[in-house]
Amino acid sequence: MLDACYTTSAVQTAVDLANTLRPIKGEDALETVEQLRDFLDDHPTAEPPSSSANHGTGPRHLTHADLTEARALRETVRAVLERANTDADEAVDLINDGLRRSRATPVLRHEDGRWWTEVTSDTDRRSAHLATTTLSALASVIATLGPARLGVCAGPSCRATFVDLSRNGSKQYCTRTCAHRASVAAYRSRISTR
Ligand SMILES: [Zn+2]
Repeated sequence: MLDACYTTSAVQTAVDLANTLRPIKGEDALETVEQLRDFLDDHPTAEPPSSSANHGTGPRHLTHADLTEARALRETVRAVLERANTDADEAVDLINDGLRRSRATPVLRHEDGRWWTEVTSDTDRRSAHLATTTLSALASVIATLGPARLGVCAGPSCRATFVDLSRNGSKQYCTRTCAHRASVAAYRSRISTR
C-alpha cells in the first residue's frame, strides 16, 4: 500500500525537514519548540488528520519531547536522503525502522467522491505524524522511481538534500541557483587555466 502514491507536498516536507540543518554553514533552523511549530505551520501535510478539525480551538500543544523527536527524525530523514543513492539497503532499514517506531498505519479515505490511501500515525503525537508523513513519502518515491532519485546537492558549499521528481531524473543540484553557481565556477576555472 505504501507504493500506491506519494504527494509532492509530503516529499517536500521531508526535504525541507532535512534542510533545516545546513551542515556546511553550521545553521540549524530547528532548535526551539517555536521553530518546530513554525515548520509544522508551513507544512500542513504533516498534521495529524484530527488536528485540522481542531483548528482555532486553542494553542497547539508542542513540547520539548516533540522537538527532540523531530530532531531525531531529521537525522533519519537526512541519512535516508544522503545514502539512498549509494546504500539503498541502509536507507530502507532506516525508513522501515522509523515507520515502525512512529506506529505508521495505512488508512483509506473518502472525500468529495474521491478515494485514496495514506499513511498516518496510530497516535495523536504531531512528531509521530511528521515521521509517518515524511518517511512514507520517501518510501513511495523509492518504490516508484528508485533510490537514485534521493540525493545531495553537488554544490561544493551546499550539501542540501533533494528528491528528483523530474521526468529524466538527472538532477544534481538542489536549486537552479546552485546549478548556476557551479557552472559559473567551472567557467572561471577554465578561463584561469588557459
Ligand atoms: Zn545546493
